Amino acid sequence: MRPTAHQRIALTACLDDHRALYNAALEERREAYRRSKVSIRYGDQSAQLKEIRADDPDQARWSFSSQQATLRRLDKAFRAFFGRVKAGRTPGFPRLKGRGWFDTVEWPKDGDGCRWNSQPEHPSATFVRLQGAGHVRVHRHRPVRGRVKTISVKREGSRWFVVLSCDDVPAEILPATGAVVGVDMGVASFLTTSDGEQVGNPRHLAASAGKPATAQRDLARKKRGSTRRRKAVARVAALHGKVRRQRLDGAHKAANALIRDYDMIVHEDLRITNMTKSPAPKPDGEGGFLPNRAAAKAGLNKSILDAGWGVFLTVLAHKAESAGRELIAVNPAGTSRTCARCGHCAKDDRLTQASFVCTACGHAAHADVNAAVNILRAGLALRQAAQAA
Ligand SMILES: [Zn+2]
Repeated sequence: MRPTAHQRIALTACLDDHRALYNAALEERREAYRRSKVSIRYGDQSAQLKEIRADDPDQARWSFSSQQATLRRLDKAFRAFFGRVKAGRTPGFPRLKGRGWFDTVEWPKDGDGCRWNSQPEHPSATFVRLQGAGHVRVHRHRPVRGRVKTISVKREGSRWFVVLSCDDVPAEILPATGAVVGVDMGVASFLTTSDGEQVGNPRHLAASAGKPATAQRDLARKKRGSTRRRKAVARVAALHGKVRRQRLDGAHKAANALIRDYDMIVHEDLRITNMTKSPAPKPDGEGGFLPNRAAAKAGLNKSILDAGWGVFLTVLAHKAESAGRELIAVNPAGTSRTCARCGHCAKDDRLTQASFVCTACGHAAHADVNAAVNILRAGLALRQAAQAA
């Protein structure tokens, strides 16, 4: 969003007042629980909204529905809390939201206290109307398809975003290409296809990932309550936001390329990948362990790649469905150790080598490409089995 200075103030007040409502409702629930172990429900709290708005002109400025959405959000936090209690765990009680810890307000229905594309007659700009803030200009970076359902406003550092969720998004079936592909998700290269293409360079991800870590360390040295600390907090938030946006952008681009070129895409099942890809520790015979790549694969870099794959696969699944493409997830066990030409499976771990050389037939290939070919083969076998059944 590109709010004016006035709108920025209004949006900040909107977040603050929704936060106050959230905290007041939390306090009420906490008291009731402390005094008599009763739990107050969403319906009870929502019924008080009318009265709150009548008594408090600040609260009355905002949309009734967005306030209901905020109470529902609290309800969700409590349901999760009681769910964990029931499961025999001792979770922390839902917490009061401090300044800077409440950055989203949702309007659950377009047209109810908010309106997407509120000035359609404007020749060059898009606006979203938000009750209490007016028509806020939006920089629309891709077309909105389907019918807008919910509208959320999100603050990230000093930037403001509008997030839409849509119903009835039209499918765009793509013409068949007659090509199929396997995708290996790796550490050295984010994605490698069975056709030998490498997609996404994790180095730029890692580079911008280092910055939040530095900013975080910087933040830890600042005194609580100081202006410098407040600025450092904003810097960390802004950098995290940047990494998130880069990751999403990269995921869209990589997924678009695959969807455009292939009828069927086979990838590793991420739930099993993380278990199978980390090499087993090797005992050194003196009670300790020989170094392997597990440590290098752990840590910040690894977790960032994991998150990147998760985002990528989610985006890929949505696009595949919309385009009428087939998506298959396979168990990746053995795919990096098996020869794509003769099927010979080496006993030792191959994670330390960038190139694959088969000890049985001499087949040499890029290790990730070899794995991607095996992944494709596993997917084709799965599909054949499904068709035969
Ligand atoms: Zn071989």
